[in-house]
Amino acid sequence: MALKEIQAKSILRTHKKIESWFLSRYGMNLYRGCTHNCMYCDGRAEKYQVDGEFGCDVAVKINAIDILRQELDFTCRRKPLKPGYVMIGGGVGDSYQPVDQQYQLSRKTLELMSEKKSPVHILTKSTLVKRDIDILTKINNSSKAIVSMSFSSVDDRISSIFEPGVPPPSERLKTLESFKQQGIPCGMFLMPVIPFITDTYEQMELSIKAAYDFKLDFIIFSGMTLKEGKQKTYFINNLEKTCPELLPNYHTIYPKDHQWGNATDTYYASINETFQILTKKYRIPKRIPPQLYVDILDENDRVVVILEHLDYLLKIQGKPTPYGYAAYSISQLKEPLSSMKHNLRQIKGVGPTTEKIIKEILETGRSSYYEQLLYG
Ligand code: SF4
Repeated sequence: MALKEIQAKSILRTHKKIESWFLSRYGMNLYRGCTHNCMYCDGRAEKYQVDGEFGCDVAVKINAIDILRQELDFTCRRKPLKPGYVMIGGGVGDSYQPVDQQYQLSRKTLELMSEKKSPVHILTKSTLVKRDIDILTKINNSSKAIVSMSFSSVDDRISSIFEPGVPPPSERLKTLESFKQQGIPCGMFLMPVIPFITDTYEQMELSIKAAYDFKLDFIIFSGMTLKEGKQKTYFINNLEKTCPELLPNYHTIYPKDHQWGNATDTYYASINETFQILTKKYRIPKRIPPQLYVDILDENDRVVVILEHLDYLLKIQGKPTPYGYAAYSISQLKEPLSSMKHNLRQIKGVGPTTEKIIKEILETGRSSYYEQLLYG
């Protein structure tokens, strides 16, 4: 492993609108590169421009805390931070990978977040996060925290092949249990499931049942992408060594030169169907549920999140939905929705059904239709 200390120019990444998967408007990567070295990691893809050999080399943003302190300083900002969870955990480097034992950038970030009373959402694959259970409990008690862990399955043997640098899923689940015992909401990011290996009905049931048994608050699901270039080459070369018999199946579902490395729609529809059946069986929310954000987000973002969740919940059932477009239009508004209560239909994408849902959210903070789909 080669470590390189670098000076970052900025740390907080601002999203153009609320990110409804994580309920965040801001995210950050404290490290670039990741020695967890998951075989499917898309941090390898050229578009992320991670220097060095992915899986071995890590760049440490050595000045991260000083920069973050400036970025969070209300007196220096032109505008205050928008409400929402600040997401710690990035696609190009797990914030709790082994190097964090030495640099403790994650812990120092949490200390700053606690000082600023900011809600925090952690996403990691590492049990090292347990080191910070004290500070996360403090944040949860004052401003709310969510701890999520990602899994491709809960099978320790499979994980040791595809996620060689990560603690086994059984230990990750026990770590989540410790957070639940402190009253901290926890989620499973079941992503990506690995085609023909962890996407089978049996494997997915083991994962979803584990989330149910450990009383996790939600599961977020996604299939795998393989972007042409370093990511796909690395994965396919390793698959050739471990499961060569699966190569023809992969060539069938991953068409060449797809811009985002997506598999075919038919493949994604089939795994979504399995996910839908199993989450219904175990009655686990398929998105972060409203009780974890109603009193955190402002009213427009609350509506955007619910409409985007609705859009997803209908899409995975293969149904058409108008809600994504309406959510996008609302995310661009400058004025609060409650001030437009009588003109909601003037917003692009808002028809009579969406209008009714928005009014219900504005009046009660909830949407009964959404909650029925979320758990159903
Ligand atoms: S833990 Fe996340 S960032 Fe690190 S290699 Fe695995 S998938 Fe990539």
